[in-house]
Amino acid sequence: MEKESGWSYVVSAGKREEQVKRELGLEKITKLSSNENPYGASPRVKKQAEAFRVQMELYPDGYATELRSKVAAFYQLREEELIFTSGVDELIGLVARAILGPEVNTVMATPSFVQYRHNARIEGAEVREVALLENGDHDLSEMLAAVDENTAVVWLCSPNNPTGNLLTLEAVEAFVKQIPSECLVVLDEAYIEYVDPVPEPHENWIRTYPNVMITRTFSKIYGLAGARVGYGMADPSIIKQLEIVRSPFNTSVFGQLLAGAALSDQAFVAECRKLNRAGIAQYAEFADKFPQVKLYPSQGNFVLLDLAKPSAETFEFLEKNGYIVRPGAGLGFPEAVRITVGRKEENQEVIRLLEAFLQ
Ligand SMILES: *Cc1c(COP(=O)(O)O)cnc(C)c1O
Repeated sequence: MEKESGWSYVVSAGKREEQVKRELGLEKITKLSSNENPYGASPRVKKQAEAFRVQMELYPDGYATELRSKVAAFYQLREEELIFTSGVDELIGLVARAILGPEVNTVMATPSFVQYRHNARIEGAEVREVALLENGDHDLSEMLAAVDENTAVVWLCSPNNPTGNLLTLEAVEAFVKQIPSECLVVLDEAYIEYVDPVPEPHENWIRTYPNVMITRTFSKIYGLAGARVGYGMADPSIIKQLEIVRSPFNTSVFGQLLAGAALSDQAFVAECRKLNRAGIAQYAEFADKFPQVKLYPSQGNFVLLDLAKPSAETFEFLEKNGYIVRPGAGLGFPEAVRITVGRKEENQEVIRLLEAFLQ
């Protein structure tokens, strides 16, 4: 599963439902392994189909002008404070390529999103991983201690994948204040729209702390994982550095159109946030019933459940019953599984299966 390289992450994420269905002779399979939005995208997004027909033969606007002005207006940022990429995955690669190399080190939590480490290694940088605290929080004081004059990038993931733990804004800000101004702090907020209650807007941190970059994506709550659009917010001097290594047409015509339409349906976002919270409550109720089960405090659209059993066993049991989840073994949690919060009935069914599995 999700081991050392980014490649195995892609392969396991892509283990297609059709293939599993055939192998196991199942009628229906529900994929809860990659934190996609179970409600799909907003109906407004689907209306863009007509525009595709007009634009598909043309190269996209390499500056993503329309999407850029929408996102800038939405967050009250300047257009030159933004960069658009083929998902945050690409953005992480650009940061590594532009800033990391054999002469520097980079600091991150572990377990966290595997792409930070993967891209840092590709660039030959020394990777300094700091274990999460027992409750799944980043150990910010140890991370701070790992930073020295050769640290070029620090990665914070909030809510963290795979635990779901949220860093408080106060904690992040106190941390950032102690980081040397030459060191970039990447705050990966792929799941921030799921956080309930909604956090105070903090996009203006990129001005107060010009060494902070915030990354966000249209893949998660906006339901556009297949469209591949992510973006970074940072001081224009950082954006310029990243633009050098960005390929000219990295986001597609389709991605740009769909992301723009998705951003303008915030009612859909609010609804998904609410439904997701109710789904997490279903899992919390389940976890409460079993003393051996540990549920990490998730603010994402997934739960990390430690069931005190080898993760492959849980994975196989659920797969056999039509549900694909992510085994924790490849994520640094050998006895846990990460399950994307689905629709109410899907969660109910997974929970029913897990109860049968544990009894
Ligand atoms: C899903 C995810 C991303 C990448 O999303 P893209 O689809 O590449 O935009 C980045 N960071 C974290 C923590 C994620 O879980």
